[in-house]
Amino acid sequence: MEIYFYNTLTRKKGKFEPINEKEVKIYSCGPTVYKDATIGNMRTNIFQDVLRRVLKYNGYKIKHTMNITDVGHLVSDGDKGEDKMLKSAREEQKTPLQIAEHYTKLFFEDLKDLNIETPEIVCKATEHIQEMLEYVEKLIENGYAYETSTAIYFDVSKLDKYPILSNLDVENQKAGARVDIDTEKRNPYDFALWIKAPENHLMKWDSPWGPSYPGWHIECSAMGQKYLGEQFDIHTGGIDLIPTHHENEIAQSKGKCGKVPANFWMHGEYLLINGGKMSKSLGNVYLLKDIKERGYDPLTYKLFSYSCHYKNKLNFTWEGIEASAKSLERLRNSYQLNISGNDNLTAENKQVLVQIEENFHKAINDDLNMPLAMSFVWEVAKFDKKNPDIAKLLLKFDSVLGLKIDYISSDNKNINIPQEVLDLVEQRKLARESKDWAKSDELRDLISEMGYSVKDTKSGVEICKNFSC
Ligand code: AMP
Ligand code: ZN
Repeated sequence: MEIYFYNTLTRKKGKFEPINEKEVKIYSCGPTVYKDATIGNMRTNIFQDVLRRVLKYNGYKIKHTMNITDVGHLVSDGDKGEDKMLKSAREEQKTPLQIAEHYTKLFFEDLKDLNIETPEIVCKATEHIQEMLEYVEKLIENGYAYETSTAIYFDVSKLDKYPILSNLDVENQKAGARVDIDTEKRNPYDFALWIKAPENHLMKWDSPWGPSYPGWHIECSAMGQKYLGEQFDIHTGGIDLIPTHHENEIAQSKGKCGKVPANFWMHGEYLLINGGKMSKSLGNVYLLKDIKERGYDPLTYKLFSYSCHYKNKLNFTWEGIEASAKSLERLRNSYQLNISGNDNLTAENKQVLVQIEENFHKAINDDLNMPLAMSFVWEVAKFDKKNPDIAKLLLKFDSVLGLKIDYISSDNKNINIPQEVLDLVEQRKLARESKDWAKSDELRDLISEMGYSVKDTKSGVEICKNFSC
């Protein structure tokens, strides 16, 4: 089935065809590990996870690279201000390395809680200094970069066109309006590739220009090229990265090898809190930890994010989370009821299910339309017959949703199961060990009649109450 994605580069939806027929290469800008990731950051990671999962649903292998920025990202997102890592280190009285290790660990814990797949390649900026240096040297050699007393700058006037990804009004740019006046810069939009370190600067490396450190944009260009080549299929990130970081990544790649590094540029929109920005001063910066502390399964937030297309703003409210928690429970209940259900499916029922699956597939292939895809998930979850084939279909959908719909909550594990049920479960276990499947099914039905469901997992048999799991 054809896949269409919105491409920020062409400003329209286009048919997706990977460079290599079987494997899709994706680069995602990863976190700057100087503070806790918010649920806003996590929205962007969920969007990237859905992208991977949808491509896999379509049979592709994935080679996904995500960087960890642990140096060079300045407070301004441009060339001004302190390095975010150093600022945190100073404020928390730790070394930059301690800061990086701490927040990287927390970031991956959040990904795990959200059942977000880890990219095949995760790379740290500080471990790729040599590749970045070589990239900058090549840009100088090609005539795209120049040295000043403070940095090596990229000369945007050397490009045939700048910007190409965003709507920056370079022509009418008044120096000082957005970019501080730097008399040594040739053009207001020139940006730093490599920054000369002041005396006492904590993170610096030897270079042909003295002790210095990389600019944020060169990190992704160098690592993207190292792991995915000069051109790959998809580059992703949050919408805020379009006008500076991604625009400049493209500029660097064109300067180095004359190519735009990715064919598709996909950007996730922002999460709003009660209709506004998330900000420390408003006291509304929420972390995944806050959702867990209120007793919600973190996957509730993932399901909540499917209520909105990734290209639209999503408004976070606790009411929305509460509603999603109920929906997640209903979805998991439906899975359990179907797994132990024994209604016959007529030919007509089967045809309806095939059609729903096709609709789901079309929705996800249409620029990851998750709100529409969810409507088809619910058609299956609410199907008026209960049968293991329906559970299988839900599980197939869950390969995209990543909601662990076959998960049985610990509340259910703690239920007081009557001894008769436990005896039947034990007999069923023996029947299965002797491969007496008919007997095993008969016992499953008996257990179901007594109001319980059994599920065979890698760690053994799980039991839960019908209608409650
Ligand atoms: P930051 O930690 O602010 O540099 O953000 C890291 C990434 O998370 C950025 O590229 C943003 O695109 C993304 N991000 C930050 N805040 C939000 C938000 N409220 N909603 C969605 N994505 C966000
Ligand atoms: Zn990046």
